[in-house]
Amino acid sequence: MVVEVKSRMEATEANQQRVETNILLLGAHSVGKTALTVRFLTRRFIGEYGDSIYSRVDRVDGQEICINIWDSQVRCSFSDKQLQWADGMVLVYDICDRASFEVVRQQLQLIRRSRKMSMAPVVIVGNKRDLQHRRSVSGEEGYLLAMTERCGFFEVSAAETYHGVLLVFHRLVDLVRETRALRKSMAGVRGIVRSVSAVFGKKRAE
Ligand code: GDP
Ligand code: MG
Repeated sequence: MVVEVKSRMEATEANQQRVETNILLLGAHSVGKTALTVRFLTRRFIGEYGDSIYSRVDRVDGQEICINIWDSQVRCSFSDKQLQWADGMVLVYDICDRASFEVVRQQLQLIRRSRKMSMAPVVIVGNKRDLQHRRSVSGEEGYLLAMTERCGFFEVSAAETYHGVLLVFHRLVDLVRETRALRKSMAGVRGIVRSVSAVFGKKRAE
């Protein structure tokens, strides 16, 4: 199922070029992946749903971006197809469930080993912040893992607030844009190096 949420202003500007950003949500079962997705798409907190890719069109820094979110329902694992599809990832754990934090750690290692995703933007999210009294993973631990692995980090409550969830997805969109810009400039440099080597190679041959 594909759900498209579009504001009236965005619809009038739909003729402008739109950039697609694919975000894959991973993490253990029941950490709140679907709750975060639905909160981001609808501003609301809803209970139960199925496996889907959802889309929302947003303006970020004046540019229209179609954010596609694959809310994976596969427990604790992911497929090559998902990695190929994704531009960036959100790895979610439940701050009250230490095992779900370990799943994020393991998934990060697997992601970093894959060729395509070794440098891909990742945001780690500790969800269910409203359940402070049951916390078993400290904010510092989450932050440290994110710093060590060069990821973004947020603690949020899909149940309580929209704003924190919005920051998660927008931060990832920013990171994806930065990565694309970097890749483009690297490709440019490689092209110049190739041209220069071709010229000098030719000169040497003459
Ligand atoms: P998923 O398996 O990772 O997609 O998890 P769900 O989004 O289905 O959420 C699992 C359970 O946790 C559901 O009962 C949700 O209502 C609940 N839940 C999700 N996010 C939060 C949150 O921020 N706070 C609290 N208290 N419960 C949450
Ligand atoms: Mg789910």
